[in-house]
Amino acid sequence: MTAYQQYFGETQQLVRQSIRRFVEQEILPHVDEWEEAGEIPRSLYLKAGAAGLLGIGHPEEYGGTGVDIFSKIAASEEVLRAGSGGLAASLGSLDIGLPPVWKWGSPALKERVCPAVIRGEKIQCLAVTEPSGGSDVASLKTRAVREGDFYRVNGSKTFITSGFHADFYTVAVRTGGEGYGGISLLLIEKGTPGFTVGNKLKKMGWWASDTAELFFDDCVVPASHLIGAENMGFYAIMANFQMERLNLAVMAYTTAELALQESLWYVQQRVAFGKPLAKFQVLRHKLAEMATQVEVAKEYAWRVAARMQAGEEVVKEVSMAKNFATDVSDRVTHEAVQIFGGMGFMRETLVERLYRDNRILSIGGGTYEIMNEVIAKQLGL
Ligand SMILES: Cc1cc2nc3c(=O)[nH]c(=O)nc-3n(C[C@H](O)[C@H](O)[C@H](O)COP(=O)(O)OP(=O)(O)OC[C@H]3O[C@@H](n4cnc5c(N)ncnc54)[C@H](O)[C@@H]3O)c2cc1C
Repeated sequence: MTAYQQYFGETQQLVRQSIRRFVEQEILPHVDEWEEAGEIPRSLYLKAGAAGLLGIGHPEEYGGTGVDIFSKIAASEEVLRAGSGGLAASLGSLDIGLPPVWKWGSPALKERVCPAVIRGEKIQCLAVTEPSGGSDVASLKTRAVREGDFYRVNGSKTFITSGFHADFYTVAVRTGGEGYGGISLLLIEKGTPGFTVGNKLKKMGWWASDTAELFFDDCVVPASHLIGAENMGFYAIMANFQMERLNLAVMAYTTAELALQESLWYVQQRVAFGKPLAKFQVLRHKLAEMATQVEVAKEYAWRVAARMQAGEEVVKEVSMAKNFATDVSDRVTHEAVQIFGGMGFMRETLVERLYRDNRILSIGGGTYEIMNEVIAKQLGL
C-alpha cells in the first residue's frame, strides 16, 4: 500500500473518479458563464444531489454516503479543480449548515430538512456572522425570545454563503445572557413571516456564490426548530468549525496547486529574451519553492484529517493546517499572477480568478488571526 492509499483507499478513489466525471460533464462547460452570472443554477443542486455529491460527508439514513473525511476531501478537491471557489462554496454551504441539524435537531426536524437538502431539492446555509462582527461569536446580538411554543427573533446576519437562494438557514441566536453561554441554534425557513433576505452582495471573488444579508424583524419561529439544547449553541458552532476549517485548508492547497499547474504550463510556452521562461533560474527556483509549499500544505492537511478521522482532538492542528495552507495559497497565487505577467491580470486566465477567490480563505471560517489565537490558547498561553 502506498502512503497515498493510506489516506485515499478504494472507496475514496471511486468517489474521486465519479466526482471528476461529474465536474467534467456538468460543471466545466458552464463554469465561466456562472461566474459572470454571479450564481449557479438551481438545477445544478439537483444534479449534484442525484450524482451523490451533496451526500458525501452526511449520514446514510438521510440519503448521504456516510461521514468519511477522506471521501469529503477527495470530492472537495475535484469540485475545486473546476477553478471556481464560488461554485465550491455554493455547493458546499450544506456542509456547514446541515451537520448541526443531523447531529442535534429533533427527529422531525432532521426528517424534514436533511433528505431534501441532500437530494438538492432544498438549499441549506449557516448564518453566524453579524454586521457588528464575525470573529467574536460569543458577542452575537440577534435575539430570540421564547414565547410559548415559539421564538420571536430580531436581528440581522451578513456575508451568508448561499444566503440569497437558501431555503433552510441554521441561525445562531442569543436566547440567554451575555457571552458564549447564551447562544442557541435555530432552523429558520425562507418564507417565515418577519424574515427577509437582502440583495446579493458584490464581492472581490467567489462570484459564482450568492452571499447575502438576512434580516429578522419579529420573526416567529416554532420552538421545535431549536437545534440542540438551549444556550448550548456556542459549543455546536465551535464543533462545526473543525470540519469547515479543514475544508478551507483543502480549498487553499487545491487553489495553490491549480495556480502552480497553470504556472508550470505557462513558463514552458512563454518566450522572453529568446528562450522559454522555464529556462530562467530565478523562475525555476520560484516554481520549486511554490511546489514545495503546496506539497507540505497538502500533506499536513491530510495528516491532520487522518487524526481527526481517528477521533483525536485536533483543534490546534486544524487551525495550523488552515493557516499554513492559506499562507501558502496567498503566496502561490500571488507568484502565479506575477509569472503570467500582464496576462495574469486578465480575466481570461485562471490564475486571475484563483488570485481573487483565494483572498477569502484566510478570512472565512475564522480569520488567520483568530486561528493563531486558537493555537496560542492550546499552547497554554
Ligand atoms: C465571501 C464570504 C462568505 C462568508 N460566508 C459565511 C457564512 O456562510 N456564514 C457565516 O456565518 N459567515 C460567513 N462569512 C463571514 C466570515 O466568517 C467572517 O467575515 C469572518 O469570520 C470575520 O468576521 P468579520 O468579517 O466580522 O471580521 P472582524 O471580526 O470584524 O475582524 C476584522 C479583523 O480584526 C481581526 N481580529 C478580530 N478579533 C481579533 C483578535 N481577537 N485578535 C486579533 N485580531 C482580531 C480579524 O482577524 C480581522 O482581520 C463569510 C464571509 C465572506 C467574505
